[in-house]
Amino acid sequence: YVNPAKQMAHIGDYDSSNAEMRFEWSQEVCAVLRNVFKLPGFRHNQLEAINATLSGKDVFVLMPTGGGKSLCYQLPALVYGGKTKGTTIVISPLISLMQDQVEHLLEKGIKAAMVSSRGDAGERRNTFQQLKSGDLSLLYVSPEMLTTNSQLRNVISSLYYRDCLARIVIDEAHCVSSWGHDFRPDYKQLGQFKKDYPNVPLMALTATANERVRLDVGFNLNITGCALFTQSFNRPNLYYEVRDKQRDVLAEIKELMKVKYPGRSGIIYCHSKNSCEETATKLNRLGLKVTYYHAGMEPEERLQVQIGWQEGRYQAICATVAFGMGIDKADVRFVVHYTLPRNLEGYYQETGRAGRDGLPSECILYYAYRDATSIMTMIDRDKDIDYDTKEKQRTFLKQVLQYCENQTDCRRHQVLQYFNEKFDSKDCHNQCDNCRIATVCEFETRDITGITKDIIRTILAIQDDNVTMLHCIDVFRGAKTAKILGAGHNNVPGYAAGKDVERTDMERIFHHLVAQSILKESAIVNKSGYASSYLRAGGRAVGLLSGTEKLTLTFLKNGAAKKSKPPPKPVNSASKSIAPKSKTKPTKTASKTGRPRFGVSKG
Ligand code: ADP
Ligand code: MG
Ligand code: ZN
Repeated sequence: YVNPAKQMAHIGDYDSSNAEMRFEWSQEVCAVLRNVFKLPGFRHNQLEAINATLSGKDVFVLMPTGGGKSLCYQLPALVYGGKTKGTTIVISPLISLMQDQVEHLLEKGIKAAMVSSRGDAGERRNTFQQLKSGDLSLLYVSPEMLTTNSQLRNVISSLYYRDCLARIVIDEAHCVSSWGHDFRPDYKQLGQFKKDYPNVPLMALTATANERVRLDVGFNLNITGCALFTQSFNRPNLYYEVRDKQRDVLAEIKELMKVKYPGRSGIIYCHSKNSCEETATKLNRLGLKVTYYHAGMEPEERLQVQIGWQEGRYQAICATVAFGMGIDKADVRFVVHYTLPRNLEGYYQETGRAGRDGLPSECILYYAYRDATSIMTMIDRDKDIDYDTKEKQRTFLKQVLQYCENQTDCRRHQVLQYFNEKFDSKDCHNQCDNCRIATVCEFETRDITGITKDIIRTILAIQDDNVTMLHCIDVFRGAKTAKILGAGHNNVPGYAAGKDVERTDMERIFHHLVAQSILKESAIVNKSGYASSYLRAGGRAVGLLSGTEKLTLTFLKNGAAKKSKPPPKPVNSASKSIAPKSKTKPTKTASKTGRPRFGVSKG
């Protein structure tokens, strides 16, 4: 990730000794950058991508959110010395996002327009007229317009036959992939472009680096041999932490906003419209300037909220994931996930909205296993999605669960691994909770194969009685509740086999087994219409029982604190770190699980 604040873009001046400046259009490119976009230089990979598309190549640009993808296609649209001329067609999934971009372009004196379901017939006719007379540098269209509006398709095709179709741009290209977290069926047909117009260069852009999605996108768009521009997705200025939700979350958020970041902006992601409104109300009662934002609001109302936040009238917004896409606010200091996200890709993008200015910012995720259960139930009960989609969403959620339950591996290492990027945790510089805790606590890896087999045997014996996870844990730890005795579960194999294991450790083992598909929770709706989650053996259970596979899990060593090593050094320069607070020792308080944590120190 290129720190936009520190890195004055790498080149901006015409310098013929630089290989990327030796094209016939290089001088023109620099002039447009300076005179039209008023920027001093290029960021990482921007010039490379621009040269590739101006050479007529198909290009795939992977850049983190805020990296500067738009310039990669907006600038070449204004350069006439390349191998392409005419209008650039941009496909983008969100109307609000397109509108925003078109407005910005018009302000710069660039001829741009959009065609979406929002405009009326008159407007559309006008746009088509401009397009036909070659008057537009950029035309933004929504994918569903391409499906439904044959006139639009005809106009594009006539541009092509007049040799006036400069290039096709597919922004947020991950929407093409059904493996991505944001699949849009209308994007599937975009593969047709390369078939209809094989010699028109195509550019696909996304902030999603997951390799499977990437391959899928290249394949679906028919650009498998394209030039690929990618970079590290690590964001060094972000601090990552997963916190146990058993704590007083609202009080912690208040402290974060009042003490640590007074007057600074943030986003609080909630999982539903209701939860946005409720959380905002609760925070208001604590005297905080917070409001909410979700898809159930009128567009005008949403715009007001967004502006109010951008101008600092609201310090934070309680929002669903609908908030943030395309919103350009560089100085977001904190992103809080009030509920766990549904997938790691989305989580990465949401946290990525913090610290775009390159200054220290933090990302806090409040985790409770019960939230995973309720999301799982929501997936199970969703009538609008098919079986395959459900399975995919369950898999995504289990990956998030694994991330939250993992208390030892560097958070950066975990997230970037998901994007197939190798990251050495030494390079984290203790800017995540797990790296930081490793400097004060000792961990040990325990073999949990035996105990897991016992658990599976127990569950196989009682699962037909529709049992909850809590009940299973009770049985396994040898409790004598009325329910257990009444059902005769004190006589099943494995009863009390885990009587020596701490309850919190036992819970972690169960959660881990769910994340590993060795156990599974499924929702069953009872007679009164309530859904409950019952525990069963999962897809990997039987294989594990009979096989030789070993399972391990890392635990905090008893006694917790490391004696040999001093507590982590407070990271001194403000430009390097924010959490824990510089100049003070990290406040170490034991959480319920005995895991020390680094709180926001009271200032
Ligand atoms: P992305 O689409 O990758 O999330 P954007 O294209 O929206 O990112 O750009 C994010 C911000 O970076 C915008 O404010 C944009 O003006 C700014 N930006 C882009 N390129 C440069 C550059 N070369 N120098 C300075 N600022 C840039
Ligand atoms: Mg963008
Ligand atoms: Zn780390």
